[in-house]
Amino acid sequence: MPGFEEARRIILESVTPLGAEQVPAWEAVGRVLAEDLLAPRDFPAWDNSAMDGYAMRAEDVRPPVRLRLSAYIPAGGDASEPLERGTAAKILTGAPIPAGADAVVPFEEAEERDGAVLLGSPVRAGAHVRRRGEDLRSGAVAVAAGTVLGPAEISFLAASSRLSVPVVRRARVAILSTGDELVAPGEPLAPGKIHDANSLAVAAAVRLAGAEPVLLGIARDDLGSLRELLARGLAADALVTTAGVSMGDRDLVRQVLDELGVRQVFWKVDIKPGRPTAFALRGTTPVFSLPGNPVSTLLTFEQFVRPALLRMMGHGSVLRPLAGAVLQEDVSRRPGRVSFLRVRLERQGDDLLAWSAGDQDTGILRTLLRADGIAILPADWGDVSRGTRVPVQVLRSSAGGAR
Ligand code: AMP
Ligand code: MG
Repeated sequence: MPGFEEARRIILESVTPLGAEQVPAWEAVGRVLAEDLLAPRDFPAWDNSAMDGYAMRAEDVRPPVRLRLSAYIPAGGDASEPLERGTAAKILTGAPIPAGADAVVPFEEAEERDGAVLLGSPVRAGAHVRRRGEDLRSGAVAVAAGTVLGPAEISFLAASSRLSVPVVRRARVAILSTGDELVAPGEPLAPGKIHDANSLAVAAAVRLAGAEPVLLGIARDDLGSLRELLARGLAADALVTTAGVSMGDRDLVRQVLDELGVRQVFWKVDIKPGRPTAFALRGTTPVFSLPGNPVSTLLTFEQFVRPALLRMMGHGSVLRPLAGAVLQEDVSRRPGRVSFLRVRLERQGDDLLAWSAGDQDTGILRTLLRADGIAILPADWGDVSRGTRVPVQVLRSSAGGAR
């Protein structure tokens, strides 16, 4: 049975990146770029003014001097006429610098009178001129493959007049809840039945990871039902099942996956909670069998499935950064395996403080509802005393704000 880091390493080494697809630039935010993006031309394409002011030849300025205004070049204007010697052009920001001019004096540093500009001090050649290609040279790599596209990258696409962009495909993730006790939300409950919380919870987590959930519904604890739905799920890019993988005699998921030619990689992980977490592969399709308890389902999804999906979708960084939080109460535990503690977090000055979010039994969803993060207590730690700095995954970005 692998431990926490080992299980995660095995999973990340087993999954393979998905292929690329072309998407419209306006839908590309958050996607991972599949190929380097090159500058299709120089940026800027021509020398232009960085200020509203007057364009001139620096060498014409021997102060004090008066230069006649021989042209007016607004943004979007035309500067095909070279600047007459010994004159200046009134120019606005972004407008092309006319041939012959090599400097701009901002309005506020000059005085304009009677169609001329008066200058009291010398001007440096190149002042307030944005040079052609100073931002990006034609053919330069502007955005490297693997970059997560954000507004800045979209800005570059738009400026390049590129309407579409190659990105790594989103993973289609099939989701199957299993159990005779489950009823779809919205349906009436008979005695002994509960509503299926996991399908929608996992779908939500899949969506937040940037992937696409495909809901298979609920499989009964019988071979026929599992065969049909698991076979369907294996057509997706990844399959996530919940429940039905413990030792109970009705737990048949493992058997049916075997029959369907799925190769089991591990069947348990030495963590608490979430021990009955299984990982398997059919070809390159990963199959995650998560424990059925909704708290365990979401914790193990966060630790194992989310990083795997991100890796498949081309992300370089797939693990949440760990913050150090100062524990505000004693926590008793036995060493042996990594455990996950649902915590409330609060920022105090430069410190992040952590409290247990409540009863840590996995039957208690309330504690997960109150949690801002997950503290990861290393396998070799015993009781943890108040004041210890513990590694936490921050789940809510609002954590540490006033609550
Ligand atoms: P199992 O892994 O089948 O032993 O299930 C563990 C616990 O999680 C049991 O109490 C199940 O009723 C519960 N459970 C399993 N699947 C779901 C689900 N989809 N929604 C809510 N609870 C579930
Ligand atoms: Mg069950």
